[in-house]
Amino acid sequence: MSNYEVLVEQIKGCTRCPLSRDRTHAVPGEGSLTADIMFIGEGPGFYEDRDGRPFVGPAGQFLEEMLGKIGLSRPDVYITNMLKCRPPQNRDPQPGEIDSCRPYLDQQIELISPRVIVTLGRFSFSKFFPGESISRARGKPRRWRDLMVYPMYHPAAALHNPGLRPAIENDFSKLPGIIEQASVPDTPEPAPARQLSMFQ
Ligand code: URA
Repeated sequence: MSNYEVLVEQIKGCTRCPLSRDRTHAVPGEGSLTADIMFIGEGPGFYEDRDGRPFVGPAGQFLEEMLGKIGLSRPDVYITNMLKCRPPQNRDPQPGEIDSCRPYLDQQIELISPRVIVTLGRFSFSKFFPGESISRARGKPRRWRDLMVYPMYHPAAALHNPGLRPAIENDFSKLPGIIEQASVPDTPEPAPARQLSMFQ
């Protein structure tokens, strides 16, 4: 088994927090293991828990529509969540649940090593930039360690509040340029100018 397959099996059998007791399926994530882009949502909802796959409900349909507009489809990217098990009634993830799931997400990031991480919503955003406001940060790519993090609103937000749809569409439209930018190696620092001695 590959390291990725081992990780998926660990997630499927996880009992690290009480959410494991009520799940139908754990939802590890899916997509290309060599993807340039990783999307990180919040946690499985009803459909995801039922099918064991991320973003397969209405928010997922919107995500797929947005991907299609920039010429991508699900197999081109990797999609996962902060939490791998559904919180009851889709309530917000709790800090202890996020802590329990953190090692899984950290290993996914390490194994897949994407160029750009798109955080969907405030919970995945705060993994990288705790305490900041998503509404101010969204749509602006940011360096985080050797990665580019691109914060966006959660697609479900547009379903509840159609007024947010243009912002999400606009943020998506910038994604191809951001991937390109992230693929360009940092410009090397200029070599220090040769010190000329006073007597030369
Ligand atoms: N919302 C999420 O954050 N993740 C899913 O997988 C589905 C809906």
